[in-house]
Amino acid sequence: MGILDGRRLLVTGVTHDTSIGFAVARVAQQEGATVVISNFGRALGITRRIAGRLPAEPPVLELDVTDEEHLATLESRLREHVDGLDGVFHSIAFGNPDTILGGRFLTAPWDDVGHAVHVSAYSLKSLTTACLPMMSSGGAIVGMTFDATVAWPAYDWMGVAKAGLESCARYLARDLGPQGIRVNLVSAGPLKTLAAKAISGFESLESMWSDRSPLGWDQTDQEPTARAVVALLSDYFPATTGEIVHVDGGYHAMGA
Ligand code: NAP
Repeated sequence: MGILDGRRLLVTGVTHDTSIGFAVARVAQQEGATVVISNFGRALGITRRIAGRLPAEPPVLELDVTDEEHLATLESRLREHVDGLDGVFHSIAFGNPDTILGGRFLTAPWDDVGHAVHVSAYSLKSLTTACLPMMSSGGAIVGMTFDATVAWPAYDWMGVAKAGLESCARYLARDLGPQGIRVNLVSAGPLKTLAAKAISGFESLESMWSDRSPLGWDQTDQEPTARAVVALLSDYFPATTGEIVHVDGGYHAMGA
């Protein structure tokens, strides 16, 4: 008996087996969920191959969160596989590594900043509203952040986008609570995924993280993050919404 028995989930952001979305899909299936996964663009072929490495091969949907048609047709495409949704995992972010990340804060052009905010923050709202017709019995939305209360080396405008995501989650929690829908984020420590590798200078964080975290931190282990996401998708946080759960070895709580 798993904590997601009988639950139907959409898990986004599955590109590779290092993706946090992949780990969430795996743990969710192990906990009894029926999972549909999504990704977009050129990486879709990789996602289809990677899907076969999950305990049960899930359907793969194409979803670019900036494409209005993809969002408008999401419900009908989901209904080919599930008759409703109990949870949605938003695991999506993008910022141009050559213009808005890696120490280019003062020179980043608005077009690239705007695109990053669209993909990484506004999309929590657009994905959620696209899925709402499937969530008539309530449920849970969970997303991923990297603590946006402070400035980090190299993270630059993605930090600003994450601050927007964190605020977006609180407003969604306000507006969807009356429908029995909880909206929460997990704030993870640095993990060696494709997104993290694309940020020049992000590795400087990785080296200090395990030293400063009281529990230690393994940047190659997505499982602790995935378990927290799955817990938030389950009934084990029934009265929690608008929350950010840190899964970072305790780093955020240390002064030095
Ligand atoms: P990842 O494997 O690269 O996942 C990011 C996903 O976002 C990819 O599947 C990517 O697809 C997708 N994506 C980008 N633009 C999109 C769009 N327009 N529409 C739909 N999907 C789009 O990296 P990850 O580390 O697992 O990232 C997942 C989430 O965790 C992100 O929100 C990230 O900011 C957050 N996070 C990561 C860390 C870390 O250290 N890795 C720490 C804290 C939080 P493509 O691969 O096809 O571009």
